[in-house]
Amino acid sequence: MAHSRREEIGCKWLVNRWDLPPREGVSLTWEGKRVQSLSPCPRPPLKAVVPGFINAHVHPDFTHLITAPDLLSWIKEVVKFRKGEKAHPSPPQEEFMARKGTVAWGSIVTWPWKDEAPPPLGGTRLIFREVLGDVGVPLPPPGFPVSPHSPYSLTPQLLKTIWKERRDSLKAIHLAESQEEVLFVRGEPNIFEREIFPLAGRPPFPHPRARSPVEYLEMLECLDAKTIAIHSIFVDQKDVEILARKKASVVLCPRSNLYLSHSLSPLPLLMEAGIPTALGTDGLGSTPNLSMWEEMRTLWFHARSKGWRVTPREVLTMATRQGAKILGLQDLTSLEPGHEASFMVIALPREMSPEELASFVLFQGDLYLEAVYIKGKRVL
Ligand SMILES: [Zn+2]
Repeated sequence: MAHSRREEIGCKWLVNRWDLPPREGVSLTWEGKRVQSLSPCPRPPLKAVVPGFINAHVHPDFTHLITAPDLLSWIKEVVKFRKGEKAHPSPPQEEFMARKGTVAWGSIVTWPWKDEAPPPLGGTRLIFREVLGDVGVPLPPPGFPVSPHSPYSLTPQLLKTIWKERRDSLKAIHLAESQEEVLFVRGEPNIFEREIFPLAGRPPFPHPRARSPVEYLEMLECLDAKTIAIHSIFVDQKDVEILARKKASVVLCPRSNLYLSHSLSPLPLLMEAGIPTALGTDGLGSTPNLSMWEEMRTLWFHARSKGWRVTPREVLTMATRQGAKILGLQDLTSLEPGHEASFMVIALPREMSPEELASFVLFQGDLYLEAVYIKGKRVL
């Protein structure tokens, strides 16, 4: 039987989790997949060891579609792609993500779900099987994460069934992503019923009317602590209170949201309400690449332009610990002993204070990325 080697790395700053201050002069040891100890390191090299990223929402099989002039032409392209009429094979995206420091991801997999090859480089791929509602898709077995696509693509009956029968499964739904979706739930003319349904060959279905997508789901009893509301752009204070009361989580995909909907979820309202909020890249259909680095910076600059008070540490926490918590990946919530040895090593060009570290990593971390370890194995 092969014995795993005990390995060690010393660093000037160790970030166990980004919501806590970094620790100075630490030696991290690991054996196999797990962190073994964190102990003092008297003369540490100028490096930082920080947690790997969790991409909480991604469609790895999507291809480049990011050229459409508006939402309607974009959805038409997606429908063609889903029907197999349009396909540009993309290079292996999961491998790209892992080499850039993403150690786990919530992957939306389109029907027909096929047995996938193991994730490259040992990363953790949490599969959400997508249910679109118009292609006779069965529900995944109980306990498996599921992604009922959106309020406008599943009938109210199907949505109700999923939340009733899959109480204990993670359920990721694209929610409040566009103004057109708001029109849909209000029963007003919208592009889905007018343009997209005929294209997809489905008749419109009757549905109750609601003031907002969040209230629509509440009305159908489709919000709970296992609900991940992807995007949640068109939400107001009332909606945020509902999400908080139902203990739902939110995942923002800033670049996709700005591209398709020219807006972003009101992050300060979510933070104030204590809603667990993470970051995802979405798929190549609506974002130029699957880099969490660029995702974080887009969020940062958007927040800045809005005058929101969001610190680098908060952005980094969303991209790491919050994603792990939302996806139920307890092992990846910190670098405490016993947890997964999945982390990045970043060279520091000079001495810096613990206060400077978070902004340095947020803005320049990928330029100084020296190594990525996933489950104890070096992948970069
Ligand atoms: Zn998506």
